[in-house]
Amino acid sequence: AIYLDNHSTTRLDPRVLDAMMPWLTARYGNAGSTTHEMGREAREAVERARDQVGRAVGAVPDEIVFTSGATEAINLAILGSASRPGRDRSHAVSLATEHRATLDPLAHLARHGRAVTLLDVASQSASEPCGTVTADAIARAIRPETFLVSLLLANNEIGTIQPVGEIAEAIRDRGCLVHVDASQALGRITVNVDDLGCDLASFSAHKFHGPKGAGCLFVRRRGRPCRIDPLTHGGGQERGLRCGTLDVPAIVGMGAAAEIAARECSAEMPRITKLRDRLWNALAASIPEIAINGPPLDAPAVRLGNNLNIRIGGVDGQSLLATLAAEGVAASSGSACSSAEPAPSHVLRAIGLSEDDARSSLRFGLSRFTTAEEIDHAAAILAAGVSRLRGQLRGI
Ligand SMILES: *Cc1c(COP(=O)(O)O)cnc(C)c1O
Repeated sequence: AIYLDNHSTTRLDPRVLDAMMPWLTARYGNAGSTTHEMGREAREAVERARDQVGRAVGAVPDEIVFTSGATEAINLAILGSASRPGRDRSHAVSLATEHRATLDPLAHLARHGRAVTLLDVASQSASEPCGTVTADAIARAIRPETFLVSLLLANNEIGTIQPVGEIAEAIRDRGCLVHVDASQALGRITVNVDDLGCDLASFSAHKFHGPKGAGCLFVRRRGRPCRIDPLTHGGGQERGLRCGTLDVPAIVGMGAAAEIAARECSAEMPRITKLRDRLWNALAASIPEIAINGPPLDAPAVRLGNNLNIRIGGVDGQSLLATLAAEGVAASSGSACSSAEPAPSHVLRAIGLSEDDARSSLRFGLSRFTTAEEIDHAAAILAAGVSRLRGQLRGI
């Protein structure tokens, strides 16, 4: 199979599996039961992973709260900052192009009487990079009762990199917390929580060649410490912010994967970006009426180097995906979580695409393991699939 769906999940790096293996087999102690050696070594392994993850994102270990993934981390950030007693916490600000893991907890808050502002982003035809929002627009949306601004650092569909550092700087004194969903960013661009200027940040191990079921929330303690409420109670693990027995093998895997991602990102991204450009060039040369969704490919500061999102005039994306799948090529029509629903991508709609254009769009995500042969093969299969589908349209 040719796997080009790396925004939905990535392959476990063999080095990560090696690091996890002992903790899946002989070393099965509970990191909370440290009255004996097996518990103590598990605890030490968790703390080593916390250190690895912290270093990878510019945080200190105490600022890392392990969770089951980014969805849980984002829920903890949003619901945990909303539920703390104190100043009026009735309003949150976010973007129309966020992941479901952000939009759905915000919708939950809205159903329970809070106000939520979802800002528009620059459209495909705007002069600003597609999918971005200005610090000015965010600043204008903030009210005295705003408790949280939540921003996606790198978009999982169109690859837009949001100028989060600039935005956070501009709203520093407005009294609200800034949460960043950095799930797609770690391993693709440099991620540093201080440069981002955020109070909270979410990460997911399986997006950077770690295991599924592991993630974390960065909760700032240095400078302006950030306080949130837990969603789970019982046991006091993770400083009481995420109770429940720790998944030691998954956490160890996340630590190893984060260390590799931070170390190898700047060396491997140029190669991956070249392969992404090679894919686009091959498609553009062989498929008429094809266009890029999202920011321009030659703008690495505003677009992830491993992301390609295209629309192909008059071709149904789902049919094309099925054609690709039959030939062993895995791609996607949007985020994995929403691709089962018939509605076209809310991200593509938010950047101004018509329903038809959104339905004729495909998303590709490349990774560390993608090869040039795979790209050439996938491009040929895609071009053949498009001419077949267009031929059927014309009744050939
Ligand atoms: C994958 C993803 C999530 C959800 O992460 P899980 O660890 O799968 O829960 C959230 N936000 C973005 C941008 C993602 O890509």
